[in-house]
Amino acid sequence: MADIRKISIEEFHGELRAQGVSGKQHLAFRCPMCATIQSAASLIKAGAGENFEQVEKFLGFSCVGRFTGAGSPRKAPDGQPCNWTLGGFLRLHKLEVIDADGKAYARFEIATADEASALEAANG
Ligand SMILES: [Zn+2]
Repeated sequence: MADIRKISIEEFHGELRAQGVSGKQHLAFRCPMCATIQSAASLIKAGAGENFEQVEKFLGFSCVGRFTGAGSPRKAPDGQPCNWTLGGFLRLHKLEVIDADGKAYARFEIATADEASALEAANG
């Protein structure tokens, strides 16, 4: 199993800012199981909530596929979302954000700037 990358909250926010998207709803993450790139805009489109505040708790934590009836993760990513959530029993995440008290929070990986801008364009 791949090593878990650990970064501070400041580094986490810095990497998200570096995506250069037009708003927080377009900040993009990669599901560790299906590799789908997703944002708050993706979650809103999938019906997880009506605005950023309502979907924020799922962002980088629960795959967008959970809200569209997607199946379990496949053995290899096939480009389609899955029903994975980091809140489950299995711990298969690749990124942890460490707060000032040293507490670790599992998160989906941060997408690249190219992936984030492509997703923003796709989500309008
Ligand atoms: Zn997924």
